[in-house]
Amino acid sequence: MLTEAQFERYARHLILEEIGEEGQARLMASRVLVVGAGGLGSPLLLYLAAAGVGTLGVVDDDTVDLSNLQRQVVHPTQRIGALKVESARETLAAVNPEIVVETHALRLDASNAAALVARYDLVADGSDNFATRYLLNDVCFAARRTLVGAALSPFDGQISTFKAYLGPPHPCYRCLFREPPPPDLVPRCETAGILGAVAGVVGTLQATEVLKELLGLGESLSGRLLLYDALRTGFHKIALPRDPDCPTCGAG
Ligand SMILES: [Zn+2]
Repeated sequence: MLTEAQFERYARHLILEEIGEEGQARLMASRVLVVGAGGLGSPLLLYLAAAGVGTLGVVDDDTVDLSNLQRQVVHPTQRIGALKVESARETLAAVNPEIVVETHALRLDASNAAALVARYDLVADGSDNFATRYLLNDVCFAARRTLVGAALSPFDGQISTFKAYLGPPHPCYRCLFREPPPPDLVPRCETAGILGAVAGVVGTLQATEVLKELLGLGESLSGRLLLYDALRTGFHKIALPRDPDCPTCGAG
């Protein structure tokens, strides 16, 4: 049962036939792991907290730097030097004190990823590196967890949902790009630069897809890759077929 305050806080969800009290209760019972409390993680965390997703796990081993604030909007200036997971927790508590935020101040790697992912219903990847992206793909497939992934370039973004554990036709990330590119080939935000609001657009799209998956709303983005081009102001969707020889989700 929702409290009187919850009825008011979530009134614009409750009034929607597609969500209603049942959908809101589902969100409040959900556990979502957000990997990275940076440019994508900020809008993800803010919107999922505001929506009333009951438990949010946040993974990040970094501290808040002045140069982060141009796009990592979950962190205010006064928290420079603080752990990002702690800074995010404080902001989210102010946005919605009804939810639980579990902080994981660690770098996700092969030794800890499986145990952490197993504790959540769904994973949103807001990391900025290929090692984490491939690790999450493989771990989420094995743990049968839906993964909502995204990536940013200076003026572009891409996003898709991966639930290859359901079987064909759902692809995984390795069906698209089998192996990570050489590390030096890929510039990261911190070195390459990015128009800050682009992270906001793509992270907010990611939050929307997470909520859709939790609520079973509309068409899943599984099997399709959405591309956002900020300079041309365009969205473009391409089909993402499953690769039967994929080393992660293939039959072999
Ligand atoms: Zn695959």
